[in-house]
Amino acid sequence: MVNCPLCDAVIDVDEEELDEGDPLICEECGAELTVVSVDPLEIEPAEEEEEDEDDEDLDYDEDEEEEDDEDEDWK
Ligand SMILES: [Zn+2]
Repeated sequence: MVNCPLCDAVIDVDEEELDEGDPLICEECGAELTVVSVDPLEIEPAEEEEEDEDDEDLDYDEDEEEEDDEDEDWK
C-alpha cells in the first residue's frame, strides 16, 4: 500500500513495481507525486520545475512562441 503524502489517501499501485523517480498521481487530490526512494519507500510531491515542463503542452505555448519570434528578429 502507498499513501498520498498530502491527503493520506491510498494510491492504487503495487509498491514492489515502483522505481526511484517514478511519477505518481493521487487520484484522491490530484497531486503529482514522485517516488524518491524505494527502500524505504518514500513518496513526495513532485517539484514545481517538473510541473513547468508539463505546462509546455498547455497555455504557455502561446507565450513561448512569441518569445521565439522575437529571437528570430534579433538575428
Ligand atoms: Zn492525495
